[in-house]
Amino acid sequence: MFRKSVRIKFILWYTLLLAVTFLLFSFILYFDFEKSQRDNMDDLLFSQAEGVVSSINTYWETEKMEAIKGGVSESVFTKINNENFVKIARRWVSEKSREPELLNIMVSIYDYSGAIIASSAGLGQGSYLPDGIANKLDEDNVFYENRRIRLSRSSEMSFRVLTLGVVENGKIVYFVQVASPLTLFYASIRRLRFILFLLLPLTVFIASIAAGEFLVSITLKPLNRMMKTVRQITGENMHLRLQIPETKDEIKKLAETFNEMLDKINSAFISQKRFMHDASHELRTPLTILKGELEVALKKARSQDEYLSVLRSNLEEINRIVRIVENLLLLARFDSQEAVLKKNPLDLGLLLEETVKDTRVLAEKKNISVESSLEGNVEFEADGEKLRRVFLNLLDNAIKYTLEGGRVSVGLAKRGSYAEIEIADTGIGIDNKDLPFIFERLYRADKSRSSQGFGLGLSIAKSIVQAHRGTISVQSKLHQGTTFKVCLPLTALPD
Ligand code: ADP
Repeated sequence: MFRKSVRIKFILWYTLLLAVTFLLFSFILYFDFEKSQRDNMDDLLFSQAEGVVSSINTYWETEKMEAIKGGVSESVFTKINNENFVKIARRWVSEKSREPELLNIMVSIYDYSGAIIASSAGLGQGSYLPDGIANKLDEDNVFYENRRIRLSRSSEMSFRVLTLGVVENGKIVYFVQVASPLTLFYASIRRLRFILFLLLPLTVFIASIAAGEFLVSITLKPLNRMMKTVRQITGENMHLRLQIPETKDEIKKLAETFNEMLDKINSAFISQKRFMHDASHELRTPLTILKGELEVALKKARSQDEYLSVLRSNLEEINRIVRIVENLLLLARFDSQEAVLKKNPLDLGLLLEETVKDTRVLAEKKNISVESSLEGNVEFEADGEKLRRVFLNLLDNAIKYTLEGGRVSVGLAKRGSYAEIEIADTGIGIDNKDLPFIFERLYRADKSRSSQGFGLGLSIAKSIVQAHRGTISVQSKLHQGTTFKVCLPLTALPD
């Protein structure tokens, strides 16, 4: 269905574009061709008419010279009302108009008043001057027209007719008219029209079907291959990836993007699985203890003290379960963006100082020195309670994972529009293999060595920092120490 609709859409668009382009091209070509053919014909007719005029003039001049030699005065020689001119013109038409260069051109000559003097054989009724010719002539004394001329009883033909007024001393002395049949002109126009308006749509149709099919199949082939692989991907074989085509086109980009998406889904899938496993494990331990203690207590009658001690121990485990569930709930709220920040003006230096103070007892117990270097006046609007939780957790971890006699340092500095907080320790460090996961829920680097925590502290810290549009990062070297860096923008948070 997808294939079909893409194919049809593609072919339709392709045909439409091809048709519009060809149509435009055809119109331009057609009108340009017609105009240039007409212009060519008109130019030819004009030069033929000029040829006729100069040829008649030669005849006329010869006659005139001979007459002058015979003693006739030159002033008598005007082409108007002159029998000699009429004779010359008639002779010229009967002799010259049969010459090869004038073939296909009909010539007529009219005197100044418009009366016909001579005309090529065959023109018959077609020889006449257009009405009001004097007004129709252009600046070259030329007038063009198309004329249908009946050549015999049954045949009629279209002619392109040029009428030229021959001017001497500012007066029209006679008219030359040349006519050429439009048969060839019409034939070539008709031929072009046939090609353009009949053959072109056919070509467009065939081209679009053929090219469309071809283009669509080479475009869709890699997509089909991709679809096949995608269909095979299920929860069980999330490792499958699309083959990246060796092209540099959008299909390659699509395959790469799809693979990136699969990577993301896969890692989310794995961490979800791990989370489910860890969460159930985390809850099972206190529940198993609870169950065991209760079962033992119920085996026989106990003294009040014994019951009290069991109940106290039970309460401890229940508190542990409550803490886990509360933390998970908080994370879930951050995930669904339900956790609301209670924004208040906050002095970060002061907050960090208080946090250091709160953990001092813990540090002293392990003989760990806590140094702080805090820049003053780093103030902004933030949720102080939640940020306190972040720093408390980072400091608590620093002390927890540092051996006796170690050192912990807390730093605060303003970097442009950011506050940078660093909490570093000289503790046990984090293995490179664990580093990418420590912000994940319930992840603990070395499960055997830290039984106190749930592995939720850092993921909660990350959620709180992100809710403040900040970032949290870690650098660590095993057995040397760890540094956590928190960057918080000092600009106002959105409501
Ligand atoms: P936990 O409650 O286990 O401390 P966290 O989310 O706070 O959980 O930390 C996750 C894991 O990251 C810890 O279990 C520990 O392995 C590692 N970790 C965190 N902070 C430090 C640190 N400062 N030094 C070494 N390891 C650390």
